[in-house]
Amino acid sequence: MSVLPIRRFGDPALRQRASETEQVTEIHRRLIEDMIETMRQAPGVGLAGPQVGVLERIFVWEVDERHGAVVNPVIVERSAETVEEEEGCLSLPGLYYPVERSVRVVVEGRDQDGAPLRLEAHDLLARVCQHEIDHLDGVLFIDHLREDLRKEALGRLRDEALGIPATVPQQPPPEETF
Ligand code: ZN
Repeated sequence: MSVLPIRRFGDPALRQRASETEQVTEIHRRLIEDMIETMRQAPGVGLAGPQVGVLERIFVWEVDERHGAVVNPVIVERSAETVEEEEGCLSLPGLYYPVERSVRVVVEGRDQDGAPLRLEAHDLLARVCQHEIDHLDGVLFIDHLREDLRKEALGRLRDEALGIPATVPQQPPPEETF
């Protein structure tokens, strides 16, 4: 197993739609092991293919000492009930903003052996699934922010890229990042 470099904001891989995986092979199983290792080392609670430069529809997660991988995930059910909670992303280190997400989702796809999988997720795991599936569509969590907060987030990213010290006070680190 190896830890893979995580792509940062600005990398074109984060803005493309990842392709369906036609067949889950040994190469994918090795990739999934590496992604789990990378997520744990970060540390994070989820990681999607594009974040390690792989434009295939795969994500891994680890919540409450359970972990797994989903290939070709599709949200087949989502609760009308939503909740707004602070979110961060391993590809946008240092940024944490509240994002509204469904409290519960049901995700269908394939597991690392290519077998059909159905994941009933609620609370944090539901948030992880929605965040990671967004990554597979080239969507980042800052895209969901209110206009003023999105501008602030982009300003921080720009300052960081230019090496300008933060003008807005640093935010406290969140409990989880994905
Ligand atoms: Zn992310």
